[in-house]
Amino acid sequence: MTVGGALILYAAVVGFAGPVCFRRATWPLRAPRLGAAAVVAAAWSVPVALLLAGVTVFLPASGLTVDVGQLIGACLTRLRAAYGTPAGAGLATAGQVLTVGMLSRGAWAAAQVLRRRRAEQRRHRLLLRWAGADVPDVSAVVLEQTEAAAYAVAGRQRTVVVTRGIVDLLSGPELSAVLAHEQAHLAARHHRWLTAAALVAHALPVVPLLRDAPARVGRLLEMEADELAAAHHEPLVIASALVAVATSTVTPRAAVPYAKPAVIAHRAGAAAGGGQAPAPRSAGGSEALARVQRLLHPPARLPALRRALARTAIAALTMGPLLLAAAPIMVALT
Ligand SMILES: [Zn+2]
Repeated sequence: MTVGGALILYAAVVGFAGPVCFRRATWPLRAPRLGAAAVVAAAWSVPVALLLAGVTVFLPASGLTVDVGQLIGACLTRLRAAYGTPAGAGLATAGQVLTVGMLSRGAWAAAQVLRRRRAEQRRHRLLLRWAGADVPDVSAVVLEQTEAAAYAVAGRQRTVVVTRGIVDLLSGPELSAVLAHEQAHLAARHHRWLTAAALVAHALPVVPLLRDAPARVGRLLEMEADELAAAHHEPLVIASALVAVATSTVTPRAAVPYAKPAVIAHRAGAAAGGGQAPAPRSAGGSEALARVQRLLHPPARLPALRRALARTAIAALTMGPLLLAAAPIMVALT
């Protein structure tokens, strides 16, 4: 099997079998940040492997050099040799199509995600400017809205936003716990993980692992934010706040369309160019229930050895395609 074939096989196995593995795995629930890192690493390794598979068709290992002119010449020589036979011509064409396709999809996905984030930034800046208010004893910007919701806005001016509905609904300790949860999102830079997951999901939504990555990462980061909040607040209080919001029956007003019912906490938005870009997320009933159960019956912390194994697996997923593609180069150099 050629290196390109091995990389395509790698991408297919990880991209299509990955969701099954992550669905069955229980360790991410015991170390949600590591779990989120594993999902992002696995998801990103798929387009990287496909891109490298295309590149290896016309990048000769033996001709690798720091001289750009020589490198281009070696590539052209290899392509000319490939086009000498029908099979070689087909392979060379497929490699070029794959390379250009992956690069263009990546650029398109990045543009889409950044455009959406910027639109969210503008909308939230306007909303907070016109409707946000500082309220005594609440360390967050308050929106005069009856729906119970809270979310974090990432960027240069990191902000936690709550609605009047959630302020009125929750007790003082419950509201403090919710604010700690949102602050945890910001402090842990969860928006960066979510942006990384969103990018690959936009690039190749046909691949299940990539398509599911934002939701899977989001769920794990919600658990981590709960854990971080639970370091300073009673888990029972956090759980009761979650239940209170999830069972709130206030009908949302159309004036704030991004805020959904049954929301306690949202992912922080991505920061394109350091700006704000919130991306509130609805915690569905089953997810809220899972979080409540996890808060009331926290799983045992993952042992150090298994954490080390998880980090090794993440490193292998991150470097795997590169090492696979570089194998012939290393062989050629030795
Ligand atoms: Zn949250």
